[in-house]
Amino acid sequence: MTADSSPDRRLERALASLRGLAVGDALGSQFFVPAHYPLLKHRQLPDAPWQWTDDTEMACSVLAVLIRHHRIDQDALARSFAEHHDFDRGYGPAVNRLLRQVREGGDWRELASALFKGQGSWGNGAAMRIAPLGAWYADDPEQATHQAEISAYPTHQHREAVVGAMAVAAAAALTADPAGPPTPRALLDGVIDLVPRSAVGAGLRRARDMLDYGDSATVAAVLGCGRRTTAHDTVPFALWSAARGLGAYERAIWDTAQVGGDMDTTCAIVGGVVASGEAGAPPAEWLERTEALPDWVPVGVS
Ligand SMILES: [Mg+2]
Repeated sequence: MTADSSPDRRLERALASLRGLAVGDALGSQFFVPAHYPLLKHRQLPDAPWQWTDDTEMACSVLAVLIRHHRIDQDALARSFAEHHDFDRGYGPAVNRLLRQVREGGDWRELASALFKGQGSWGNGAAMRIAPLGAWYADDPEQATHQAEISAYPTHQHREAVVGAMAVAAAAALTADPAGPPTPRALLDGVIDLVPRSAVGAGLRRARDMLDYGDSATVAAVLGCGRRTTAHDTVPFALWSAARGLGAYERAIWDTAQVGGDMDTTCAIVGGVVASGEAGAPPAEWLERTEALPDWVPVGVS
């Protein structure tokens, strides 16, 4: 059995992934609060409400554009990012400035390509928002990687940021296929086959070689866990953790958060990928503690 390509099923899968992404983002960001460090150590939940951050806000725009256009329309995506940009959601300084300039009439093509002395951003922001797109295209993982590629450009034009988004979308697409969930090894093999040669790809091959490691902290020390907030410092570890946590959302998020680093984003990626799978939904109590998604995203389907 392969994934259903009907519009309703695509939307259902993408929403399941978005909920997993939002819960991971919101819970992960709670552990930047120093008073919550002991809770993380003992795997205890902070009090509600857990507010989500830029990862979720941007993922909502990705889904809104897919619903409206049935593909990624880059101008519509840039417009949605700019219109819904909330300065207090933890965006990086470069993206804050870029989205303000787009809102004021600037051309995202010029602005995004000019970032970082013309190299474009290699931050993890294109990867953090893309798992629901992968779930949407579970029937066509190659299309998932292609649409993820073009979705990166309005904000992230460095090759590593683009490939990071492709890798996360590929992982979500493969996980959302009902013929899966694949084994951890099969998932990383599939992702590696779908992404071009890059530092992200090299990190993913290393991640595959470390699937049998019991100690997440050692793996995070080797692969990186987002401390530099680059795509190549974030995506290989997040997909290593997602692969090991298939069908076990709760454990996957705790294992990811406990190594530290860019916890809202690593947990958003892991949550979005794991929740793409049929057995990967977050616990009901975690969903209840998480801030509701914004009302401009149609979340009313069952
Ligand atoms: Mg964030």
